[in-house]
Amino acid sequence: MKHLSALTAGLTLALSAADRPNILFIFSDDHAPNAISCYPGGLFDEIAPTPGIDRIAKEGMRFDRSYCTNAICGPSRASILTGQHSHLNGFIDNNSSYFDGLQTTFPNLLREAGYTTAMIGKWHLHSNPVGFDYWEVLPGQGAYYNPDFIQMDNTRKRFEGHCNDLVTKKGLTWLKQAADSKKPFMAMVQYKAPHRNWAPAFRHLNVFDDVEMPEPETLFDDYANRSSVLKEHAMGIQGHMSWGNDMKFQGPNLFPSHFTGGQGNGQFRRLTDEDKKTYIEAYDDENQKFIADMRAGKLDQKAITKWKYQRYIKDYLAVIRSMDEGISKILKHLDDSGLAENTIVIYSSDQGFYLGEHGWYDKRWMFEESLMMPFVVRWPGKIKPGSVSKALIQNIDYGPTFLDVAGAKIPASMQGKSLVPLFKASGEKPDDWRDSIYYRYSGEATHHVAAHDGVRTSDHKIFWVPKTKEYQLFDMVKDPQEMRSVHKDPAYAKVFTEMKQELEASRKKYRAHSAIIGQPKEQDWWKKRHAAMNQKAKKPHDLLFIGDSITQGWEGSGKATWEKFYGTRKALNLGISGDRTEHVIWRLNHGNLKNQKKAKAAVVMIGTNNTGHNSQDPSEVKDGVDRIVSTIRARCPEAKILLLGVFPRGVNPDDPKRKNNVEINKLISKLHNGERIHYLDISDKFLTEKGVLTKEIMPDALHPKQKGYEIWAEAIEGKLKEFGL
Ligand code: CA
Repeated sequence: MKHLSALTAGLTLALSAADRPNILFIFSDDHAPNAISCYPGGLFDEIAPTPGIDRIAKEGMRFDRSYCTNAICGPSRASILTGQHSHLNGFIDNNSSYFDGLQTTFPNLLREAGYTTAMIGKWHLHSNPVGFDYWEVLPGQGAYYNPDFIQMDNTRKRFEGHCNDLVTKKGLTWLKQAADSKKPFMAMVQYKAPHRNWAPAFRHLNVFDDVEMPEPETLFDDYANRSSVLKEHAMGIQGHMSWGNDMKFQGPNLFPSHFTGGQGNGQFRRLTDEDKKTYIEAYDDENQKFIADMRAGKLDQKAITKWKYQRYIKDYLAVIRSMDEGISKILKHLDDSGLAENTIVIYSSDQGFYLGEHGWYDKRWMFEESLMMPFVVRWPGKIKPGSVSKALIQNIDYGPTFLDVAGAKIPASMQGKSLVPLFKASGEKPDDWRDSIYYRYSGEATHHVAAHDGVRTSDHKIFWVPKTKEYQLFDMVKDPQEMRSVHKDPAYAKVFTEMKQELEASRKKYRAHSAIIGQPKEQDWWKKRHAAMNQKAKKPHDLLFIGDSITQGWEGSGKATWEKFYGTRKALNLGISGDRTEHVIWRLNHGNLKNQKKAKAAVVMIGTNNTGHNSQDPSEVKDGVDRIVSTIRARCPEAKILLLGVFPRGVNPDDPKRKNNVEINKLISKLHNGERIHYLDISDKFLTEKGVLTKEIMPDALHPKQKGYEIWAEAIEGKLKEFGL
């Protein structure tokens, strides 16, 4: 009997595991919904259909208000993995950020829940993937022609062919193997297409030769009735298309007043000599005609822009074609293998893209064309075929959705919500669904788009531009193309007030506060010290001290103790007086840790200035400290982090600032995991039995004297030895 019930229990378990659906997440880069034929409103539905993607929508659901948190590549991907906005997961831009794969991510959790997981294709988070049984990813942006893929042993291997075809092939190979496993699978098949420089598969190089592509109404937008900051962009079809890379000319730039760049086309250079000939031929007739017309003075500014638009949009749409073919192939494989019934399939892209709207290519600005992400999903038996949802969804929802689908717990750290209730209700949103989505772009040197953050509700959009200190407000019903900001229009006074409140509330809700948003200081002395530390950080060190004036003080009152304890241990002082968490976050991503990949330990003590001068809430300081620790963990993959409780301040225990630090310590102590992160509170060692901070140790009740530094060094020595120092 006992034996039998054990058998039954085993059987039940096996059945429920098999019941859990597989998850296939097909993802691309910069694919605007306006270039997908199942989405309404696009100009190319007839000319350049996408039957593969359309099939998912036809057999499942299409989301028409699907938005990103931050319209650039890496940040969107990091938001998907963590279910968090960029400022919380730390991947705020493509240049300064570095992803910490040890954060709570949905692949890690699915794996714990018994899924086998894979990531194939474009990754773009700088650090290698974590949380996958199998991965094979493009380095950085990756290449279209004969691309390299990083293998799991960290070597790079080059493969012949077009990147889209290779991602499809590698995806199919993995899916075929995964079918043999008894576990359900979660696969991320991520195409590089249709990212710049829009290099089509050879079979599609001439597919639109005889077509005149329709132009968007706003191709010649003059940015009237909106902020002047929009004109500062460097992402215009007219002014910022490069001669070789974007426009596919050979040889030196013949018209530098109309085209940027020289001969460069990295994709072309990867081709074999024979393929180079084919490639040149594909563009040559049109290119030679353009050059002749230019020399004959036949083309005015407008005609040149129109020509550039044609070249751009044809390549953009052509590069999608081989990806869509690949998606069709993958869907067919699911049919043929019998996997289709129990596999949820999603197609999405990291953000939208300007297809000439507002005169632009690229993304970033919070206008619909780049804010929107395509999102179509098929789940046989659960989602009604052909349904459409108007609910406001965001990429932070994907992780919670996948966990929900798998029957796993959604962690509190994830800021998104599961979409499963919407799937099951034909796209109708539950009563407690969100009324707005929050967006935050942190600014990057490329393309000159100013930082801004905002919210979009079903009818309106507001965003704030710190650089020019102005709001932009749009009526999305009356002005869907966003051609007039109504923030000064008296008729919108009430809406303006409400939208400002919604923005403020969203910043609070999503924890977009000053302690976590990295910020440099403007003073010369600060910049100089930061630069001097970066200079020292060019050399690898074993031991890093990271903090504010108390850490900097190792060079003052603590000098003798430093010499005694750390003088011969390759230690680096990364403390700057007055720093709060936000300054340290910025520094760590701007050179302080650049060559510290081999560091053995980092001692972190930060936070007292957050409550001292700026009165940030202890829970906000905790977010900042969490971000600092996560950044060190990612950038110094071998380092143990000794996170010290913030030192006591104020003479007596009832000093409000002392109490604040105690509160911070309660919260940051939870970051301890005994693996990479070790929390240690040495506060008591500075205090008398009654909790008094004496002048002998910290004369100003904040900064240690030499005796204080001795106490500090002795208190952490055991831990440092444990870390192998
Ligand atoms: Ca992208």
